[in-house]
Amino acid sequence: MTATTIPSLKLNNGVEMPALGLGVFQTPPDETRDAVRSALDGGYRHIDTAAAYANEREVGEAVRDSGVDRSQLFLETKVWISDYGYDETLHAFEKSARKLGVEQIDLLILHQPLPSAFDRTLEAYRALETLLADEKVRAIGVSNFMVEHLTPLLNQATVAPAVNQIECHPYFQQREVQKFGAEHGILTQAWSPIGGITFYRDGSHGSTLDDPVIGDIARAHGKTPAQVMLRWGLQHGRSVIPKSTKPSRIAENIDVFDFELSADEMTAIDGLDTGRRGGPEPDAITLDAFGREIPDA
Ligand code: NDP
Repeated sequence: MTATTIPSLKLNNGVEMPALGLGVFQTPPDETRDAVRSALDGGYRHIDTAAAYANEREVGEAVRDSGVDRSQLFLETKVWISDYGYDETLHAFEKSARKLGVEQIDLLILHQPLPSAFDRTLEAYRALETLLADEKVRAIGVSNFMVEHLTPLLNQATVAPAVNQIECHPYFQQREVQKFGAEHGILTQAWSPIGGITFYRDGSHGSTLDDPVIGDIARAHGKTPAQVMLRWGLQHGRSVIPKSTKPSRIAENIDVFDFELSADEMTAIDGLDTGRRGGPEPDAITLDAFGREIPDA
């Protein structure tokens, strides 16, 4: 198989990030090595993991086994809420870097805002700024931040987040926070970019994979619904990080650079937004409900 070359997106500090990466949420540790290896062999150069996914070590092992030069790879991981606070987040970097087996992380982001302890969130972000200044990370960002979280963050930050990773698929598009991000140089990175959360969690809408509008567009291009959704996200300028453990789907999800959706097709998919979130409301994330210890490396 010929490896695909992935276009890059330029972050607000000039760092280049591959527009498409492999996500590994819910990828069991013992399947992570093979999934990441399969992705790297197929041309992926960007992996999105998190301390809370408990598979950073296996991501690092696959990276080393692949023989791909570190300079060609973009490794992204997330600090869990239990490690918020200035010193705690500095230590969280050490834990993640050791598990990944790297000196420097390309993009380190806060996994969630912690609205009930926002001071700790701000302190965690201040630690990310220190890590950036010390060149321990090449870029910093956030995840699941809404406008009401980004606004106070930007008021205190000296470095604007490069990325806000949010739920974003045809059924939940979050235009308000995307627009706010764009106005402040914050790139939107889509989690569940093919609507994963619409098929692994019971919700008020069905699976995006079965959507008839997306299905018709896919047939017109000889592509799959997943490929159409990824292409739609990329054409909107977003970063997308689809997850799969299956080699055939990993290959399918990167094969999205040889077709283009028309303006009408883009508009048709834009029209599928239901406004209903699949993931938890950011305000429901509390230490009591979701706190858990992230082990040392
Ligand atoms: P995705 O939209 O990537 O969908 C993943 C699901 O789709 C899996 O069930 C996968 O199953 C299946 N799948 C993958 N490719 C195909 C395909 N081509 N055709 C049909 N089914 C397919 O959802 P995720 O929620 O996993 O999001 C992607 C990534 O975003 C995560 O892995 C993680 O890195 C990040 N994320 C971040 C969150 C955050 O709070 N910051 C929250 C959730 C996700 P299978 O593996 O069996 O192929």
